Amino acid sequence: MSTPASRHHKRPRGEGQWALGYREPLNKNEESKKNDDGLNVRQRIIDIYAKHGFDSIDPADLRGRMRWYGLYTQRRPGIDGGKTAILEPEELDDRYFMLRVRIDGGQLDLRQLRVIADISNEYGRGTADITDRQNVQLHWVEIESVPDIWERLEAVGLSTTEACGDTPRVILGCPLAGIDTDEVLDATEQIHAVHERFIGDPAYSNLPRKFKTAISGCPAHCTVHEINDVAFVGVEGPDGEKGFDLWVGGGLSTNPMFAKRLGVFVRPEQVGDVYGGVIGIFRDYGYRRLRHRARIKFLVNDWGVERFREVLETEYLKEPLPDGPAPEQPRGSRRDHVGVHRQKDGDFYVGFAPRVGRLDGDRLHLIADIAERHGSGRVRTTVEQKMVILDVAPERVDSLVAELEANDLQVNPSTFRRQTMACTGIEFCKLAIVETKASASNLIDELERRLPGFAEPLTINVNGCPNSCARIQVADIGLKGQLVVDEHGEQVEGYQIHLGGSLGVTPGFGRKVRGLKTTAAALPDYVERVVTHYDAQKKDGESFAD
Ligand code: SF4
Repeated sequence: MSTPASRHHKRPRGEGQWALGYREPLNKNEESKKNDDGLNVRQRIIDIYAKHGFDSIDPADLRGRMRWYGLYTQRRPGIDGGKTAILEPEELDDRYFMLRVRIDGGQLDLRQLRVIADISNEYGRGTADITDRQNVQLHWVEIESVPDIWERLEAVGLSTTEACGDTPRVILGCPLAGIDTDEVLDATEQIHAVHERFIGDPAYSNLPRKFKTAISGCPAHCTVHEINDVAFVGVEGPDGEKGFDLWVGGGLSTNPMFAKRLGVFVRPEQVGDVYGGVIGIFRDYGYRRLRHRARIKFLVNDWGVERFREVLETEYLKEPLPDGPAPEQPRGSRRDHVGVHRQKDGDFYVGFAPRVGRLDGDRLHLIADIAERHGSGRVRTTVEQKMVILDVAPERVDSLVAELEANDLQVNPSTFRRQTMACTGIEFCKLAIVETKASASNLIDELERRLPGFAEPLTINVNGCPNSCARIQVADIGLKGQLVVDEHGEQVEGYQIHLGGSLGVTPGFGRKVRGLKTTAAALPDYVERVVTHYDAQKKDGESFAD
């Protein structure tokens, strides 16, 4: 039978789309997923691998299915970036894992924060990075510890299920959901409902590729809906009714695309069904031939929004969705929630900036203790690698801020501390070509010293390879790690520069300036020159991206 999608299917050659009858795996990843669902590795970890150690792990699990539970082998120390592309995966593998804990909506209570802190100290050599998807990543985890880690996480309602892999990963949400004075609506219930219904469900655990979600009513658009696979953005619909505008097909990496609006209005109670429809389309019609064309953005791009909407409504929802409005312009020029601000109930929230998201077990404990001492039981992570403490009574704010600042958790950071992000980089990531966290941290120090008065919004995103985990293409200054040749003709760590990327009403990808590269050592000089030039040349109201 001809379906709306198949009638308009433009590609004569099969892309491995299940709904068009292509069920035979067309690459090794698809084969592995067909051989055994990623979710099944959990029992083998508990029954076999944790008991018999690293060498007992089946290679197909080690490099594939472990990801379904947030586990990646980390990079063996001492292998430089020049070897990333030429060594076999097993030569890059360390015997330790990165473990990603998913924190849907970025919402943590103090018990959860302390459990993560304890696990970090006991099993992760104290490591704990806040990621730009609101997760916490631990390193140096041994397979023997994983069952105990899971037990402790699950006892407080956290998990690592589908934190990585070809799955519905963490659901981004506004850290201020329910407390922001101007929020369109509180999407916490929808985040929980989608999590409950879809995460860990084998019907959705074999997607063509990763699937990134944001559900938010944030007036600052802090969950970057433009670059998620699916995003529900809070809007006021017809007759003042609150609901969501639906966006699909965003993503960065090597073929960046902005998400597109389908133009529909989704009522809060419909979010689960609509999410199921979109993820169902991806599962059934997504491209499974080539990994680098498998994200939903390629399907959306080929079909166009009208076709996508038609398939969603006719094949999956079996009913049309009403047209709906676009979101309002985002509030302000920064999307983070750093600083001290009033909540709708009269209390305050306090957002602060750890350095490039890097924390550790002791500091997570410290943050929990500081929050508790000031009457707050709720802490949030943000998509900018920052954190927010909620529910602080007005008379407790000054003391809270003083304690955070005394521990280098800055509430009033410089632009450079506030808006510089860095991905994991060569310290732990097997795909990395260069180091990132230390370089970015050094960059912040240098820029604060050299340009003390600079206060304009300016995002600097540092990535260790072209994969764009830290969103190079949408930063004012995006730095893509690669080897470059220095003045002595030696290959050294450096960056390709992208300039002028932005999100928002008129989003644009940063321009890769031909030939514009810098060595890591010269990075502060380079950024200082760019920022000084921009500051001197800018006209009134002109942002860096202009
Ligand atoms: Fe690793 Fe590259 Fe992602 Fe950085 S951008 S975390 S180096 S894959």
